[in-house]
Amino acid sequence: MRWSKLFIPTLRDAPGDAEAVSHQLLVRGGFIRQLHAGHYSLLPLGLKVHHKVADIVRGGMDDIGAQEFTLPAMHPASLWQQSGRWDAMGEEMFRLVDRKGADIAMGMTHEEIFTTLALEVNSYKELPQIWYQIQTKFRDEARPKSGLLRVREFDMKDSYSFDVDEAGLEASFAMHHDAYVKIFEQLSLPAFAVEASSGAMGGSGSVEFMVPSPAGEDDVVCCRSCGYAANVERARSKVAEITDETGPSTPESFPTPGVRTIAALADFDGGAPPDRQLKTMVMMLDGDMALAVVRGDHQLNVQKLQDASSANDVRPATSEETVERLGANPGSLGAVGVTGFRVFVDHALAGRTNMTTGANRDDWHLRGVSVERDLADAEFVDLREITDGETCADCDEPLTVVRCIEVGHIFKLGTKYSDSLGAGVLDPDGKARPIVMGSYGIGIGRNLAAIAETHFDDRGLIWPVAVAPYEVCITIVNMKDSDSIDAAEGLYQELRRCGIDVLLDDRDARPGVKFADAELIGVPFRITVGPKALADGEVELTARADGESDRIAVGDIVDIATDLVVGSR
Ligand SMILES: [Zn+2]
Repeated sequence: MRWSKLFIPTLRDAPGDAEAVSHQLLVRGGFIRQLHAGHYSLLPLGLKVHHKVADIVRGGMDDIGAQEFTLPAMHPASLWQQSGRWDAMGEEMFRLVDRKGADIAMGMTHEEIFTTLALEVNSYKELPQIWYQIQTKFRDEARPKSGLLRVREFDMKDSYSFDVDEAGLEASFAMHHDAYVKIFEQLSLPAFAVEASSGAMGGSGSVEFMVPSPAGEDDVVCCRSCGYAANVERARSKVAEITDETGPSTPESFPTPGVRTIAALADFDGGAPPDRQLKTMVMMLDGDMALAVVRGDHQLNVQKLQDASSANDVRPATSEETVERLGANPGSLGAVGVTGFRVFVDHALAGRTNMTTGANRDDWHLRGVSVERDLADAEFVDLREITDGETCADCDEPLTVVRCIEVGHIFKLGTKYSDSLGAGVLDPDGKARPIVMGSYGIGIGRNLAAIAETHFDDRGLIWPVAVAPYEVCITIVNMKDSDSIDAAEGLYQELRRCGIDVLLDDRDARPGVKFADAELIGVPFRITVGPKALADGEVELTARADGESDRIAVGDIVDIATDLVVGSR
């Protein structure tokens, strides 16, 4: 393609609200434009990269025998009601009503819809099946931001496996895991697999693929010693044992005027250090009040509470709700003697005695609390957020928390959707059984942005060849020099014949502008055709990644450039 004919609106400055590097550079390089928050137009350069990323993902799916579909984006509410997710998806789901008054869901994922197609699979002999699509999804993100990293409308590769039993699911899951590793390698993304929360997807387990980046929105707990890695929503660590005194046979209340925080109670004469306090949070789980209790110096991870309680909607109770039901304000709350609520207590508090907590009476606390004795209906679950430097549960070495971008997520769904939608097969004994499912996602735009986040310098993007909008840019230094134009035209045609994705910069602009633009949009190789070198029968070849330039004979450049490009695709 000839640059003079293309729409590549490069900008000197990034939009003021763009914090993520990928957001800044994709806008400046003329790849994307925001229509409104969370919705982006892909301009021609952006679409070229998008297609290349999608093709690599498609190739990975085809390699494991997956079959491509395209399903509608608008779904009847009834299917989502059958699976229970019409309610579970809450405000994340875009919904609309048609002219006849029928409720419609804008698809945010397609388990329900693919499962209805699987109703036509009748025998174990037709399994396994792996089905996929690359299609537009809609999610009403609370805070769309960071360019293509967190959007409300995006293309996703979603695939679904259908097996006769758990062993089949394990095999399909492992195949996807391996396919994802290869896909991220081809995309030049330094992704690694971590244990993850399944959230509203349900099922028995899930793995996320993460790329370390300050632009990410996930925290991953990693052990550099043994390789343990888990999303903070799921991570565990070893808590040092604390030896408690036995304490009194029943809790004692004592006045604590003005004491409303863990720290204040630690400083209070007759109080207790944070690790001998119970921190009680009042939460609303699907509208029902519940208590979540962690150690005074620990933090609650809300996703862990959501997973432990299976609630769809989790939020802190308001002060008004709290006072009405518990009779005291935050800062004086506790779970001792409370009835009629679910009480979730973090594992780290199991067996603790002689603890101090709020008395559900403003300015009073209780001491001498034995957790198991005094919180009789407690459900012991994992609630605690792991922090940097804690001890690995597997090898005792320190853990690190790393900020990451999630580039893929794979789920073992089990029979949640086949049960609710009635998708079963006859097994070899002629018995009906539900199909065992998995689902697997890769966001195309998110991956494009993740590549940008990990491949740039102060001059712009440095696309890996495999996804570059163009592989080679031929820059004509002086558009008034007919020899340069002829030579560049010849190289352009020859490289095209060799199957190279080549861009000819034939714009009537200063060479500095042309070089800067080619660097900004991140073309991996540049061939500079200028009168001086050409007089010696040579052109200049520059690699974007390291900026190294070589003079090459005009007669050799096509072979050399082709080898370089093909070798790094
Ligand atoms: Zn470890």
